[in-house]
Amino acid sequence: MKLSLVVPCYNEAGNVALFQKAAIEAFADCNYSYEIIFVDDGSTDATLHELRKLHKAQACPTKVISFSRNFGKEAGIYAGLQHASGDYICLIDADLQQRPEVTREMVKFLEENEDYDMVTAYQDRRNEGKILSFFKKSFYKIINGLSDVNMKSDASDFRTFRRSVAESILKLAEYHRFSKGIFAWVGYKTHYIPYTACQRATGNTKWNFRKLTNYAIDGIIGYSTKPLRISTFLGMLTSLAALIYLIIVVLEKLIAGIDIPGYATVTVLILFLGSMQLFCIGIIGEYVGRNFEQSKNRPVFISKEILDIE
Ligand code: UDP
Ligand code: MG
Repeated sequence: MKLSLVVPCYNEAGNVALFQKAAIEAFADCNYSYEIIFVDDGSTDATLHELRKLHKAQACPTKVISFSRNFGKEAGIYAGLQHASGDYICLIDADLQQRPEVTREMVKFLEENEDYDMVTAYQDRRNEGKILSFFKKSFYKIINGLSDVNMKSDASDFRTFRRSVAESILKLAEYHRFSKGIFAWVGYKTHYIPYTACQRATGNTKWNFRKLTNYAIDGIIGYSTKPLRISTFLGMLTSLAALIYLIIVVLEKLIAGIDIPGYATVTVLILFLGSMQLFCIGIIGEYVGRNFEQSKNRPVFISKEILDIE
């Protein structure tokens, strides 16, 4: 039996060696073999340099894939899965917020429970601001309401699964990758375990509000076409409202002889309808844009260097 650890790294120069050390300690006395697949996601710091050193030393079986630029964590996961040769595969961050010891528990669970295919860690306590927490919760409410697949909120990318799951994921070669959606879409029986994210070993998080918002939009657009339906309904609703208003205005003029009052209503209506139209065009644009990206059929990532295990 063999385990592959897939570790996407973006500017993690200070962490990769620490991660490897922690993994070696965690798996020291286990009765299966394992490999670490580091994916350098176009880091601008010394990450690749550090990874080359780790690959050369081979303190434990270590592969390195290096991207030609930053393609994002999702692309890193995809590349790592392509190169993983284990019967079990674990996705884990390089910053030691997620502990390799937990991976051991995950593997143990899968070994003992044949009817489960995947173990996913979710954060029982979040060490982040209330506002961010609120936005994340709302996002999952919206996306679960809109899409056909159900994504568990709080579930992280920290997972261990069987080879069959990895092979299913590799079949989805879509350009805009949203791993939470991909996992929900491929299905398989999942067991959830709680974990507490530790502090980052070194460096800073790569996420900011803008990146998270883009990620959320990718998730919603990628996993549902309901926003298009909603814009159709909005159009119907506003035209119905306009029709009712038209009837009221005509009746007022004919029956009560009231002149149509001021320009304020007109201005508000123009603004309202104009913004509604832009909003709906925006929604359509999101889908057209994705269609365009996908139709170019570009690869999810470009690797400039692969350091394999001899
Ligand atoms: N990461 C990556 N490419 C990116 C951003 C992040 O490969 O463009 C990696 C990063 O090196 C880390 C993992 O994804 O191993 C999670 O990133 P981070 O720790 O910044 O996210 P957080 O833990 O704060 O959610
Ligand atoms: Mg992190």
